[in-house]
Amino acid sequence: MESFQLERLVAGILGVGGAEACLEETLKYMNEREAFGRQIKKFQVLRHDMVQLYTELEAGKQMTYNACWLYQNGEIPVKECSMVKLYMTELGNKIVDKCLQMFGGYGYMEDFPIARAYRDARVGTIVGGTTQIMREILSKIIIDDVRYKKVYSNPEEIKSASTTAAPEKNWGNPQTAKEIILSIPLRIKKDKAASYSTVFQFDIAGETGGQYTLNVKDGEAKVEEGLNGTAECVITTDAKTYEDIELGRMDPTMAFMGGQIRVSNIAAMMQFAKMFHRV
Ligand SMILES: Cc1cc2nc3c(=O)[nH]c(=O)nc-3n(C[C@H](O)[C@H](O)[C@H](O)COP(=O)(O)OP(=O)(O)OC[C@H]3O[C@@H](n4cnc5c(N)ncnc54)[C@H](O)[C@@H]3O)c2cc1C
Repeated sequence: MESFQLERLVAGILGVGGAEACLEETLKYMNEREAFGRQIKKFQVLRHDMVQLYTELEAGKQMTYNACWLYQNGEIPVKECSMVKLYMTELGNKIVDKCLQMFGGYGYMEDFPIARAYRDARVGTIVGGTTQIMREILSKIIIDDVRYKKVYSNPEEIKSASTTAAPEKNWGNPQTAKEIILSIPLRIKKDKAASYSTVFQFDIAGETGGQYTLNVKDGEAKVEEGLNGTAECVITTDAKTYEDIELGRMDPTMAFMGGQIRVSNIAAMMQFAKMFHRV
């Protein structure tokens, strides 16, 4: 639940950056393009459109900053993050559409970056929870008075929760990516994984990494060296990132969003994470 807030914030931040870039590009074009013997930036109707868009972007930007600040300070701002996702992705579509219009026919040509931006912006209101779903979440919060509580309020709680969930910690203190991966079979939650089967591959660059295939079947897990057979999910990263994530020094969602780790099948990964105790 908490990771979704970051995903929604990132969508909003991308919306702000994308919209700002479109507006700048459009202003540049409006300086260059002439129609009826004047720069098109001199036409009042276009000027008014542009300043209106800048104003709406400023409102969305401030809203995004506020949600980022709440998130950074340990809140779980479900309402604010959902509003940011809803508002900024819808506004992004509106801005790029209006900007494209300023380019006239050239806006439709692939040679102009605005055409590409038009297509790219469109996914914003779909990915990471659609606009309709954001409105559903907000309806529950605003109209039905639903409240979302934090799962943990500090890192100590996270630690103690993971120790209580794992009474017999028999996997020592693995520190390197290789040691952490080799400890996976010892960390299996036998009851949860009783009827769970999967194949995962780890392609971890760097001295302390390596390539491993993990087979899980009926409550037992086995690691072998190399990328063997076909995997349900492949995890690709470098050893330091993998170690930082597993040892709690790096937020996995942040690493994923930043492209530091690639996970070929997110749904499989989420299910996998429930089957093993943390290091
Ligand atoms: C480029 C791209 C990258 C993606 N990356 C990831 C990823 O990394 N990880 C991941 O897990 N997913 C990813 N997705 C999937 C994405 O999260 C889903 O596409 C999105 O959540 C919408 O789900 P859906 O496509 O199944 O649409 P559907 O759920 O089929 O929705 C279809 C329509 O019905 C509406 N709708 C659905 N339910 C309701 C409701 N209850 N009330 C009102 N309207 C509703 C929707 O708003 C939409 O308009 C990605 C998608 C794209 C396009």
